[in-house]
Amino acid sequence: MTNFLLSIGGASVPAAMSFPVIDPATGEPFAMAPDASEAQLDLAVAAARQAFATWRHLDIAVRATSMTAFADAIRAEAEPLAVLLTREQGKPLAVARREVAFAADRIAGTAALDIGGGYLREGPLGPVRLDYVPMGVVGVIAPWNAPLILAMQMVAQALAAGNAVVVKPSPFTPLSTLRLGELAARTLPPGLVNTLSGGNDLGQWMTNHPGIDKIAFVGSTATGKKVMASAAASLKRVSLELGGNDAAIVLDDVDVAEIAPRLFASAFVNSGQICMAVKRVLAQAPIAGALAEALAAEAHKARVGGGLEPDVEFGPVQNRPQFEKVLAIIDDARAQGGHILTGGHALDRPGYFIAPTIVTGLREGTRLVDEEQFGPVLPILSFDSDEEAVTRANATRFGLGASVWSGDRTRAEALARRLEAGTVWINGHGGAAPDLPFGGFKESGIGRGMGLAGLRSYAEIRVLHGAGD
Ligand code: NAD
Repeated sequence: MTNFLLSIGGASVPAAMSFPVIDPATGEPFAMAPDASEAQLDLAVAAARQAFATWRHLDIAVRATSMTAFADAIRAEAEPLAVLLTREQGKPLAVARREVAFAADRIAGTAALDIGGGYLREGPLGPVRLDYVPMGVVGVIAPWNAPLILAMQMVAQALAAGNAVVVKPSPFTPLSTLRLGELAARTLPPGLVNTLSGGNDLGQWMTNHPGIDKIAFVGSTATGKKVMASAAASLKRVSLELGGNDAAIVLDDVDVAEIAPRLFASAFVNSGQICMAVKRVLAQAPIAGALAEALAAEAHKARVGGGLEPDVEFGPVQNRPQFEKVLAIIDDARAQGGHILTGGHALDRPGYFIAPTIVTGLREGTRLVDEEQFGPVLPILSFDSDEEAVTRANATRFGLGASVWSGDRTRAEALARRLEAGTVWINGHGGAAPDLPFGGFKESGIGRGMGLAGLRSYAEIRVLHGAGD
């Protein structure tokens, strides 16, 4: 088995303990990951603090050059990284390749942002200026669904704003992030990016650590609340990008045949394990039946299999707890009177495969409609008026994304402007970019990642009176 190592202070180091990493396409362990100790976290935080002392004062153009070198190193290793990502995460190789490319693009794209600041106006003591001041050491905690892109977008913002980082991937998908940690150690100043794998307890040590100034977290809403509670003890800054239950509102004037494949892809990409995937379809009554049938046809012909098998479009669910949760949600849908148009069962093979599943006949008050299923199962609900669609789309504690699909852009926009979500798409659903703020209303998060709003959330604001400009 290949050896995976932590990165601390620019060096690759082992841990005394290790834990198995499971291939979700087989359900069997295929590698061991180092289980960082609390003492190693202390070392990583100290190394980051030391690197920060220099990095914070570098010109942003110099920082950008280093970050671009890191992005280029990822691109140069893209293929082995993508294969490793597929092995541990399960996603098809073509999707893993895109994720590696996006991770590199996020780093380079974020490095190109200008955080801004400068002269504001004259005051009684002379010129008043505003500066964005780096915070210090940022603890980055990432989930398992898109490990590289999500970890790297947080790392990139932290570095671009002048901070150093300690990164912790999910224990389900630590390996490709550890490899990126080694690339970071080769291309960036020692200790600027420290990468530690471990269990959830490592995450808790980070949120409690007095040497960490901010926690950047992407993961579930339940864990996000724990992170915020723990960070409150020292008033650590937090960015929380959490779960979603995105509604796609489909109006009666759409071309069902044209939108069905695109809507299907937006819901089932990464086997539904995307925060901004469509998780509920609200279809207007006249087209609801036809849309459900068209989505079921897409689901029926979808090619599901191991991510390294040829021509596979959708991989397994990433881990056993999530696999069991999704199957329990499907059972509950059936018990609540839902009609399974296609799918509704695990595949008869090893690994965590679930047939893409389309369910009709449910209402709010059932698990599949109210919870974030985070798997390859989609409910199609029927509504009558535009007003009802908005009310039901907003009737959730989540507020990450939403979309409106219509042949009439004016009608769609009128509804889109009333949706309580951090991102709303018209005639599409999904997609993020380094220059666009992304995050959620309500329990889908606190703050925004990416764009200037995201970058600035990795800095303090200092207003200086009486300075030269
Ligand atoms: P999770 O909350 O279980 O775990 C996320 C990370 O938190 C992991 O690294 C985990 O080890 C760590 N962790 C667990 N307990 C912790 C604690 N008490 N303190 C500190 N860290 C702790 O999430 P997951 O199951 O890995 O990811 C799926 C979730 O992530 C879904 O809800 C999805 O919607 C969400 N997500 C959100 C976005 C977004 O941008 N809003 C993007 C991707 C995924």
